[in-house]
Amino acid sequence: MIPSPLAERLAQLAALGATGHGIDRRLFSAEDAQARTLFVQWARGSKFTVEQDRAGNVFARRAGKRDGAAILSGSHLDTVPNGGAYDGAYGAVAALCALEELDAAGVVTEHPVEAVAWAGEEGSRFPLGCLGSGAFAGLNELASIDALRDDDGVTFADARAAANGLLAGVPVRDGFPRPAGYVELHIEQGPVLEHRGVRLGVVTAIAGQVRVEVEIHGEAGHAGTVPMELRRDALSAAAELALELEAAARTIGECVLTVGHLSVFPNQTNVVPGRVLLRIDARSVDEARLSALRAAIEACAARTAAKRGVRIETTPIEERRVVAMDPQLRGAVAAAIAELGERAIDLPSGAGHDAMCVAAVAPAAMIFVPSAGGLSHVGNEYTTPEDLQLGVTALTRSIAAIDRLLAKD
Ligand SMILES: [Zn+2]
Repeated sequence: MIPSPLAERLAQLAALGATGHGIDRRLFSAEDAQARTLFVQWARGSKFTVEQDRAGNVFARRAGKRDGAAILSGSHLDTVPNGGAYDGAYGAVAALCALEELDAAGVVTEHPVEAVAWAGEEGSRFPLGCLGSGAFAGLNELASIDALRDDDGVTFADARAAANGLLAGVPVRDGFPRPAGYVELHIEQGPVLEHRGVRLGVVTAIAGQVRVEVEIHGEAGHAGTVPMELRRDALSAAAELALELEAAARTIGECVLTVGHLSVFPNQTNVVPGRVLLRIDARSVDEARLSALRAAIEACAARTAAKRGVRIETTPIEERRVVAMDPQLRGAVAAAIAELGERAIDLPSGAGHDAMCVAAVAPAAMIFVPSAGGLSHVGNEYTTPEDLQLGVTALTRSIAAIDRLLAKD
């Protein structure tokens, strides 16, 4: 086997947008354009055909026996502010390495195989997650994406037409052709694989999500003069609500619930808090549990309001359905990993990924490798070089297995 350029490429990408605390590489920034340019150079260096679409996604195509719908693999090149070197970048580079490994092994696939670098998965510049893969899957029309504005008021349409937008010299593919199948390799971003001592995971489903904003109206007052029994303290009510919600999630089981955002008004040491704004994020891979979580949020809010004499308003701000990975593709991936003599476990993904968009138009699967300490979206995200390389090998075998599976249809 040829030595893999994986580590070298990841190191080159990690330098783009390095802040000292992590990596800041937002869609259509200079650093993001450099990252996409590198992806194109690597792909062309290996004689793959490169195209981009109008959403900013970049595709490297390795021909198959047949023309037409391709098997796709990839991930995103953008990061969250002060993000890590592997979230996204690993899956995009690994897909390119997998195409090269197919070449090195002399594998001829039935379908064309494409490595893809999705644009703007993190939503850290324009207020839409999975921007590129969502456009590709037809979940968001390009016209509506074009109208999105970043914090500086720049529209997506202007950003993609600017110097750091779509790449000069790369042909633009019109429309968004349906792929035959999709497989994405990603770091787990959680602690399960490491905890279980397993190096590979096959994703069962991507969790659905409920986000609710809660506003608690109490009564502000002087911290020195309002007696305890006469208070309607909005922060004490928020604290009680957060603990009730935590207990409810534990009772429902196989779900996670987080109160991760809290604004206290007026937020003064000598004032009883009169108003609190908090946001709840609840996730599960089971729709019934998501419904139970929605009901629990309403019930806990009503109970806390009555007990504390405050008024509580709840507003759903985001809903995402559970996205199951394709059972046949999962089977092909699991079999390919077993052939390597490696053990893999099935696990759900609590985080969202491009795969959940692509799953709307093609059968999709995902492979996870461990994240040291379960850390992600931080500068010290880490996966061992051995695990990174094992992931590429598993991905290469999985692409070949998926090709054989889909060629039968
Ligand atoms: Zn990611």
